[in-house]
Amino acid sequence: MRAIIGTDPEEAARRLSAGQLVALPTETVYGLGGNALNATAVGNIFSAKNRPSFDPLILHQSTPDRVLAYADSVPDEAQQLAGACWPGPLTLVLPRAAAIPDLVTSGLDTVALRVPAHPLIREVLDRVDFPVAAPSANPFGYVSPVTAAHVADQLGDRIDYILDGGPCRVGLESTIVAFPRGEPTVLRKGGTAVEDIESVLGRAVAVRTVSSSRPAAPGMLVSHYSPGIALRVVDRAGERGTPDHAVVRFGGGTETRGPHDYDLSARGDLDEAARNLFTVLRQLATGGYGSATVELVPEHGLGRAINDRLRRASK
Ligand code: AMP
Ligand code: MG
Repeated sequence: MRAIIGTDPEEAARRLSAGQLVALPTETVYGLGGNALNATAVGNIFSAKNRPSFDPLILHQSTPDRVLAYADSVPDEAQQLAGACWPGPLTLVLPRAAAIPDLVTSGLDTVALRVPAHPLIREVLDRVDFPVAAPSANPFGYVSPVTAAHVADQLGDRIDYILDGGPCRVGLESTIVAFPRGEPTVLRKGGTAVEDIESVLGRAVAVRTVSSSRPAAPGMLVSHYSPGIALRVVDRAGERGTPDHAVVRFGGGTETRGPHDYDLSARGDLDEAARNLFTVLRQLATGGYGSATVELVPEHGLGRAINDRLRRASK
């Protein structure tokens, strides 16, 4: 089987309703979608990705009401974040409703929910009467896809249809917020800045993205986002790239450098760096390099999520 790449949300919805897997564009990264209430489809998502069963999935629907129907209860602060940040790159982890198969939540008593912002996936979600489970459409542990071609490269022989919505606007996965004992807690830094969450809630939130072997959110695994070469993160890179060793800068300006020098954003823009991150990590993976040096970016806004991924990619 080789996936068809198309742009028809109607066809994507029809295939999802028939239990097939469909790659879907979101503003964060491409997702590998399936009917979250169909245990066979959910099982196929895990096997297509080689995803360990302890890594639960995020459910997507087109409006806050439609997705929050899969939570058993919604704390006030979750409601506030949903109102302010959805549709958008924020996932809320809430007590689960009974209808959701255990495989989706890895047996946890909570479920992860999101309303994505990309217009094409929203058209698909409007057409189906179930939530769509959609983890990033990459083999487990590898770099997340931000174009339809990335999905086709890595999973094209394991899925039926890839809905092409162009390059992802944000380029980082969603920020995940849970409410253990009622306290808003960031489990994964992502496309919504922690500062924005704090300004919606009017208070500081806990950030608990430390890793373990059985993480609360596997974005927390120490080694993740792997480009498959030795990667060293530094504050400032002095050297030039060579055919063996790539150098990735941030805010390097217009100075001309060689073909093995990359820049996440030559003008030092964090949104642009987020959009470029996974594409550059892929170029490191496929460019024939043995190793690379990568500059960290400023540790604020989306920079915190970018540095988080660079550090994990370097482990
Ligand atoms: P992905 O969609 O591949 O970016 O991965 C989804 C992320 O959501 C993973 O890191 C999951 O661990 C996290 N996640 C999903 N459900 C839960 C949950 N109930 N509690 C904590 N994290 C979750
Ligand atoms: Mg992922």
